[in-house]
Amino acid sequence: MLYINPASPNVTLAQKRHLKILTCYVNKKLDEPICTDPKCEICPLDLRKVNNLSSKIKNFLTSNNCVEQVLIGSPRVLETLNISFWQHIFHKHTLADLYPYFKDISSENLRKKDPDYQRRYKIVNHYSKQIKSIFNYDWFNSKTTLPYNSFHLCKSLDRYTCTYCNRSYTSTIVTDQNKMVSRPTLDHWFPKSKFALLSISFFNLIPSCYSCNSSVKGTGNLSLTTSIHPYKDANQSDDFEFDYSYKSLKGFRIHINDTPSGAIADSKAKNTLESMYIDEVYNSNISELRDLLIIKRNYSASYINIMQSLLKTKMTKSEVFRILFGVMYEQQHFHKRPLSKFKKDILKKLEMLDNI
Ligand SMILES: [Zn+2]
Ligand SMILES: [Zn+2]
Repeated sequence: MLYINPASPNVTLAQKRHLKILTCYVNKKLDEPICTDPKCEICPLDLRKVNNLSSKIKNFLTSNNCVEQVLIGSPRVLETLNISFWQHIFHKHTLADLYPYFKDISSENLRKKDPDYQRRYKIVNHYSKQIKSIFNYDWFNSKTTLPYNSFHLCKSLDRYTCTYCNRSYTSTIVTDQNKMVSRPTLDHWFPKSKFALLSISFFNLIPSCYSCNSSVKGTGNLSLTTSIHPYKDANQSDDFEFDYSYKSLKGFRIHINDTPSGAIADSKAKNTLESMYIDEVYNSNISELRDLLIIKRNYSASYINIMQSLLKTKMTKSEVFRILFGVMYEQQHFHKRPLSKFKKDILKKLEMLDNI
């Protein structure tokens, strides 16, 4: 997993736009007064308010700057807000009690459930439906939603590879004619099936590849105490490292190790990546590892120094590193090339980075 610095200029700008546009959207759904900006692109739109909005939901969202907190609160704030919200609605129940009733069920299937379930479903699902309609991810995720949708968010985040695996390119591509061609998927770090309140929260939308978003990560329970989060854990890249071993029957095998700082942090980074099967994903294709081992076998540890003197240009060592291995050296640039973190860790293990 790669750290995304929430204070970097493009992320800060993206947050501002996210907040400005989606505040007006949510306020329209809540039937709150329109904003005072004469140039607002959302308030003049014909967006329908939520029918028969629950006063409990309205009271919660319209007090204590709550909409802003939901839209751009930090991951920790989001986690707390979600708990407070459901406690405000059902103060005697925990989230785990309520989860089974969040998913929409057809009336035909509901009739097959026991009467107690049916009764609880009607009470709880009413609220989760309203929340889904206010923080409407389908609306936000549609290419046709203007002036702002998930495509625009991805474009401004400007991430080149998957935040979780750093294996697949996920660039956002828009043609000169403004046609939206491709973009990363947005993974909900807190799964939206259980955290509907956080469906369009900026820090819950993680640019990632299709595979990490769908099959690998799934809807498992993550908690900020036990798992790393791309926007929160600034040192996550230092807390784990890729390594390999040779198992005679299986050949080479890639695994993830704790670094000393990772061990102090209770293996949080290592455990999170293993729970997402990132080590298995890397084992599915180990040709990049073999290439690095071939370089090591055929050249000395001073390979980078020799190549740099051969290139005889004004290139920095990190530029030479990029050209030789096709990956980035600095942590904040890892996302620009697939496998940057992996190759750097393996080259370090092979003692090829002595002089960088
Ligand atoms: Zn407005
Ligand atoms: Zn991925």
